Amino acid sequence: MAIVQVALPLPLRRVFDYQSNLPLPIKGCRVLVPFGKRTILGIVLSHNQNIKLNCKQLKTIEQVIDQESLFSDSLWSLLLWASQYYHHPIGKVLFHALPVLLRQGKVTTFNLRCKSEITQQGKTFSLNQLKKGPKQQHALVLLQQQPLYHHQITKHELNKNKSQTVIKLFPIQQKIESWHSTFHLCKKPKLNLEQSTAVGAISSKTTFMPWLLVGITGSGKTEVYLNVIENILSQGKQVLVLVPEISLTPQTIKRFSERFNAPVHLLHSALNNSERLAVWLRAQNGDSAIVIGTRSALFTSFANLGLIIIDEEHDNSYKQQDGWRYHARDLAVFLAKKENIPIIMGTATPSLESIYNIEQGKYHRLDITQRAGKAKLASQHLLDLKGQPLKYGMSNPLIQRIKDHLATNNQVMLFLNRRGYSPTLICHDCGWIAGCSRCDHYYTLHHYQRQLSCHHCNSQLPIPIQCAYCGSTHLVPVGLGTEQLEEAINQLFPNIPFTRIDRDTTRRKGALEKQLAPVYTGGARILIGTQMLAKGHHFPDITLVALLNVDGALFSSDYRATERFAQLYIQVSGRAGRAGKHGEVILQTYHPEHPLLSTLLKKGYNVFATETLAERRDVFLPPYSSHIMIRSEDHKNESAPIFLNKLRQYIEQHNMRDSQLWLMGPIPAIKAKLAGRFRWQLLLQHPSRSYLQQFFAHILPEIMAYPESRKVKWNIDVDPTEN
Ligand code: ADP
Ligand code: ZN
Ligand code: ZN
Repeated sequence: MAIVQVALPLPLRRVFDYQSNLPLPIKGCRVLVPFGKRTILGIVLSHNQNIKLNCKQLKTIEQVIDQESLFSDSLWSLLLWASQYYHHPIGKVLFHALPVLLRQGKVTTFNLRCKSEITQQGKTFSLNQLKKGPKQQHALVLLQQQPLYHHQITKHELNKNKSQTVIKLFPIQQKIESWHSTFHLCKKPKLNLEQSTAVGAISSKTTFMPWLLVGITGSGKTEVYLNVIENILSQGKQVLVLVPEISLTPQTIKRFSERFNAPVHLLHSALNNSERLAVWLRAQNGDSAIVIGTRSALFTSFANLGLIIIDEEHDNSYKQQDGWRYHARDLAVFLAKKENIPIIMGTATPSLESIYNIEQGKYHRLDITQRAGKAKLASQHLLDLKGQPLKYGMSNPLIQRIKDHLATNNQVMLFLNRRGYSPTLICHDCGWIAGCSRCDHYYTLHHYQRQLSCHHCNSQLPIPIQCAYCGSTHLVPVGLGTEQLEEAINQLFPNIPFTRIDRDTTRRKGALEKQLAPVYTGGARILIGTQMLAKGHHFPDITLVALLNVDGALFSSDYRATERFAQLYIQVSGRAGRAGKHGEVILQTYHPEHPLLSTLLKKGYNVFATETLAERRDVFLPPYSSHIMIRSEDHKNESAPIFLNKLRQYIEQHNMRDSQLWLMGPIPAIKAKLAGRFRWQLLLQHPSRSYLQQFFAHILPEIMAYPESRKVKWNIDVDPTEN
């Protein structure tokens, strides 16, 4: 008998002890255990063979599901570390990392690929004779007990050296054909000097090295990835590529799968659970050469990982915004370190965190400054809107430029970051505005769906006929959304085919590709869209990019808004003028003198980033300090602030010796009311990440013991990226 520590998928920050028969289940394996009146699935964390506890009080593990850990060693270390760093329950973290079907207890088929039988010699083989680690000894014990057991004895166990004498293997399933034997180098464009310098630098290191690859859109970063990947694959190793959801287009995928005669697998939100599990299994047993996926693909367990690539490393979609609020880029760097392999973070607009890490000597920067092939950089202009008559948000000079570009047979892209018909519906007689009562947020009018929709809580309502306040039927849409812009294009540019890309037009599977197709074939001349357009697409014939209204971003209360805007601007404007055609970017604004705009347009992103980092340093904002945000919410607006106030008092009392800990709040969140809940937040800031971590771990048990903590919904956000 021994005691086994098991992690259960519960919101409890503790592990559970069970007793187990021999042989002991291996850590990282799933077990079925009794919990209360139920039997639930858990994951073995560790064993405690020496403790002389009274085991009889402990319940017994009912069933061991896996014979081998579901996690690679490095993934296992990553998850244990992340559970502490993000102060998230270990059971939740481990289960989150598994494909849904495995969370539900499905038996993985790779465990059944071989039957193994012990030989006569093996039966009498003593553990001492086997000069191998605990894994191998464990496998031998298992085999001695049950001569036939359905388990693939993998290379790290017995089938090396002594194996022939100890066990016999009976394959019961054909091994999927390995790509290694047929892999060959492929045809590719000749790299320019900057590209080949980057490829050379990255490939010269096979150990851990975080590379920040900076190059504007179209500079040939993907081509650099492909060249480095080729080197890795030819060593028989696997590659993980993380991309933001939006860039996971068939175009991207085609580029990877057409280049290599090796299996490329995708992990994205449209896959069903068995498809996801299949990819996971193939990566785990080495059948997969490249896995491309979004944030959660990071938790794929690889047989032999040789490289991680994070494309668009600055993208905010790498941060999970609910439950376990991890940052996939930060975790990926940790994983690469554990695996001792290189990681490439590519972007046109590096996050300020990454630039800071360059300054600290933690990351290494490689720049690509020229556009690949024949493409040239676009010219950029500000268009002052003050006093200008507007037609649907467009000034006359802009309309004229659109006509000019269309006349030369080119394409035009209009960027408007607001979907729907108009952001407000107002009573012309009394000024009442239709608003969502659950969020204190105005409804957006959606003409086509014939409804009002709250973009905060996603609730919908039929379009009202009368004002809720005065009963007038004179309700007018005010403000411009993409739906209305589409109508405007029809009127201003009759007979010019166009297409619209936003969340409403691309909801269904395959819709994005369908909407984009006419842009590539030239069937659409005007492209209207939201920030969905900013990433991952190559539109060779777009020569004019116009940003209709971005002033909101210039005056936000969120200190990260300027960084986001700068990134968005560079991405969007980067769509203009590829394939050798001269491009033009026009930005309409009421504030052409705004310093952010002049820095960005005249001096570029690097100068913007340096200046913004200096500002953050002066006021100790991240990355020059660390943040932990505690959020709480309730329906009555009572317990949520009380809970955080109590927390603040407790922190103040217990932090006498450290004057650098700075607290902000409790204050209402930016979305102060969402879906009927009032939301509050308390921010902890400290220049030392490790101090903040330790201090918080220290006070966490106390927080959880507050009776108020059970009256509110609350969560912990380490390194928050949103308010
Ligand atoms: P990024 O990933 O930085 O946006 P890509 O790698 O997609 O840039 O390159 C942009 C375009 O230029 C692609 O069509 C690509 O095939 C082409 N390209 C990239 N590198 C070269 C090169 N060395 N020679 C010719 N064409 C290239
Ligand atoms: Zn009214
Ligand atoms: Zn709402």
